[in-house]
Amino acid sequence: MGKKKRGNKGKEHAAGKRRGLRVASLVVASVLMAGTWVYTRTPNRSLNHEPQTAGAYVRRETKLPLSPALFVGKIETAYRVAHNMPDVLDQLYCYCECDKHSGHRSLLSCYTDHHAANCDVCVNEALDASRMMKQGDKMTDIKSAIDRKYSRM
Ligand SMILES: [Zn+2]
Repeated sequence: MGKKKRGNKGKEHAAGKRRGLRVASLVVASVLMAGTWVYTRTPNRSLNHEPQTAGAYVRRETKLPLSPALFVGKIETAYRVAHNMPDVLDQLYCYCECDKHSGHRSLLSCYTDHHAANCDVCVNEALDASRMMKQGDKMTDIKSAIDRKYSRM
């Protein structure tokens, strides 16, 4: 509370200065606002009609997988698959049904936290997908093979 004891003159002077600053910043703010208004009013590509390059894959899971270095053995390998081919895992459904209990968007979601490290289904699906990719299998074939194998479990 030491500030209150200071001389009135100094206080008034400071207040005047502060008022000046406030006016200046108001002017700046309104100029910025006008600018933003003009910017948002200008007809631009609406988000819904964003042109998409043919074949470009739009990720369902936007978070990144954890580093494989955090794990060992088979689980490390599976996290490495997620790291190296996120788009592949993102197109696969995880049959541990984590979409229901954890709100996961795809198999890739399982690798954005420690979930996959405790789940055989997540790990095996990723390893199968990686093996099929290396064989040169198409994404549609990988998808149906995974669906066939794990939907019965
Ligand atoms: Zn899962």
